[in-house]
Amino acid sequence: MTKGEKMHLRFSRAGHFWLDSGLVGLKKILDETEKDVIIQEDADGFFLEGTKNAVIAAIEQAYDILIDQYYNISTQKQKEDTRAYNFYYDSKEGRFYSFPKKKSCGIAEVIYNKAPRPTGQMIKWAHKSEKKVEIYYQGKKFKRTIARLPDSYAHLQDSMDEFLNQNELDITTAGLLYDAPYAVKPKINIKITNDNKKIKGHCYFCGQPSEVLEEATQTTFPLITGTSGVLSFNSMAQNPEKVCWKCSLLGKFVPVNGFYYTSGDNIFIFLPYSSSFEKMIDVFDSLHEAEYRDPNFYRNFDHGLDGFFYHTFEVAFAFLFTLYKKVLLHQKGGEEDFTALDWEELLDLTLNKAPLEFYTMHARKEGNTFSIKTLWPFRESVYFYRLLDHVEKNGVKIKEVIRLFYDPQEKNENATLKRNRICERILKKKSILDLVEIFVYGSERTYIKPIVDFLLIYEPEIRKDDSVMTREEQDTAVALGRRIGVAVGKSEDGKKGDLYALRKSRKKVDFLEQINRLQFKLGSDFIVPPDVYEGKLNDNNFQEFKQFCMIAALNSFNAATSETKK
Ligand SMILES: [Zn+2]
Repeated sequence: MTKGEKMHLRFSRAGHFWLDSGLVGLKKILDETEKDVIIQEDADGFFLEGTKNAVIAAIEQAYDILIDQYYNISTQKQKEDTRAYNFYYDSKEGRFYSFPKKKSCGIAEVIYNKAPRPTGQMIKWAHKSEKKVEIYYQGKKFKRTIARLPDSYAHLQDSMDEFLNQNELDITTAGLLYDAPYAVKPKINIKITNDNKKIKGHCYFCGQPSEVLEEATQTTFPLITGTSGVLSFNSMAQNPEKVCWKCSLLGKFVPVNGFYYTSGDNIFIFLPYSSSFEKMIDVFDSLHEAEYRDPNFYRNFDHGLDGFFYHTFEVAFAFLFTLYKKVLLHQKGGEEDFTALDWEELLDLTLNKAPLEFYTMHARKEGNTFSIKTLWPFRESVYFYRLLDHVEKNGVKIKEVIRLFYDPQEKNENATLKRNRICERILKKKSILDLVEIFVYGSERTYIKPIVDFLLIYEPEIRKDDSVMTREEQDTAVALGRRIGVAVGKSEDGKKGDLYALRKSRKKVDFLEQINRLQFKLGSDFIVPPDVYEGKLNDNNFQEFKQFCMIAALNSFNAATSETKK
């Protein structure tokens, strides 16, 4: 290959959610840059066409943009903390510059969480004080470290001290940063060669032969860990997997494609994934309409739901709900009224060309590294969005339901443990009946109507071929519960304890006996629907029948007692 000769450099999908997210990230950034290369996309990836130098320049430029947007950034807090700023000397301008602290944030922090390093030269201090020294400067008093430049740079000493004093900056580096600030920037190796004779081995991820292989680290894929990781898929711990430079590069572009939400030391990551690269590119812009720029980078989507979210499934629910509102309903602000779902958009997004999945990862910060706690693919987008549409169409606001599942009697993380379990069941299309019954009787909420409305729409949806309980049986249980709740709530002789007594019955016979007792107590205020005795309640469905009945009873009881109070 001679200089100036055109070459092709191909990047292909690996069929791996992490690296393919990186592939999307690289492509999206390359698309935005001015470059002397042509990009050709196809179903399985893309290639760059140009001279070797132009190809390398394009990749380096894309990498610099990536670093500036995800790895080497300053949070609002870091920007505001001007006294913690660092500084460097610019020899061309002949002056000092200060700059805020830098860190990697969000998904980038999981990939690479290291201290910044000098990007230019560093002139080592000839001497640095061990402690901070008190400084008096123009009537101000403050403390800072004192450092002396080596003789060859002694001419900068006075202006440096003046600059530090003026800005009340401290010295935290091992030397003077010269001509460039420091930066958080993982190393990359771009090794374009066409020599098949020198092949060292095959890449662990893409399987391609490669002349240069690197040890796989967390910066390639957080779940593959060489020497320092916590959880490892690598059974040969002493013999770390090797990866090619392309996979190593792609792993760093993952943050572009992803969404994340942090809560304390936990981060929840959502990566849209499809078996078709074309599809991943097609849906990128639509999905990222939901992206939000948080000044402190705690999250990059704004779910618009009330309160805090701590656990995997409730956060996943909140994320999918955000896409529903922002992408499928195009609600930008705080609109909450029901809008019809754009079915074409939904099908385009979820099923066209290839199905869309969301890889959900929960990682927890332990010291300086993150350990991955869970990883699961969510493949039920169509079901989930149909459900939300169906529920909201019937006048039930998801936002309200989610808010009410927060348990005000519990503190912090515990307040949403039950909600998390309920969200898990919903995402997995499973019944939430037992959990809801425990929740409404365990919490002191006196207003549960949206929860009950949601339940009564949700359960028949996921029980379409259920053998335990038919829709008619559910309706009977609810009708019975409503009559009980109203009668107990309105009657002078009724009290909430009657509901608890009924709820305690372990067998169908006990349950019916309790109902008889109630009838005796409440008289004509309470009439049992006849179909309860005509087989709608049976030994087989007793548990669920009772759960539906008790939830409906509590809801009606609450309504009746709040009316009486008025
Ligand atoms: Zn590879």
